[in-house]
Amino acid sequence: MKVTQSDIVISAVKPEQYPNTRFPEVALAGRSNVGKSSFINKMINRKNLARTSSKPGKTQTLNFYVINEMMYFVDVPGYGFAKVPKSERDAWGRMIETYVTTRDTLKAIILLVDIRHDPSKDDIAMYEWLKHMGKPVIIIATKADKIPKGKWPKHEKVIKEKLNKDPNDPIVIFSSETAMGKEKAWSTIESYLFR
Ligand code: GDP
Repeated sequence: MKVTQSDIVISAVKPEQYPNTRFPEVALAGRSNVGKSSFINKMINRKNLARTSSKPGKTQTLNFYVINEMMYFVDVPGYGFAKVPKSERDAWGRMIETYVTTRDTLKAIILLVDIRHDPSKDDIAMYEWLKHMGKPVIIIATKADKIPKGKWPKHEKVIKEKLNKDPNDPIVIFSSETAMGKEKAWSTIESYLFR
């Protein structure tokens, strides 16, 4: 997809605030620091529209980005900070659960994992839960430039195994440093928009 327009529309904490234009949308989830903001910015050709803002103590919001006036990216706050108080984690869980279970324009969830590391317990739990909810998931293996190309297949295999990946769910190897995987990520996302 050639992105000609993108903007943040709203940071929402509750369903009444979600946009109601009924454009198809794709949500993005991943542990903090996995490269989610970098992925969003690279995909929409912006330097700094998406920011890492999900530090503990900050308001946790679902950030809706409109793209080409026809779809949304929905940035879900990152998980996996060690020192987040339980009350905050619970609030995060409720917000995500409400969003994922009630949003009928949600076409797929992008789960970002770091290609270098085994998926974390939180990554595995998130993937399992999304599959339990019957949602299509696109796995993006980020930071591919940080390991040699020859090692990609081995790391991809580990990710698939540890997540117990559904064969229907695509996996895309990506780098926001080199834009490797950008076209494949876009064509994969587009294939879910009008299902
Ligand atoms: P977020 O917390 O998931 O939004 O992560 P960020 O997008 O802020 O990225 C976290 C750190 O990883 C930053 O220092 C980024 O510059 C770096 N980073 C993100 N993606 C890549 C990538 O594909 N390659 C490399 N080398 N670094 C990356």
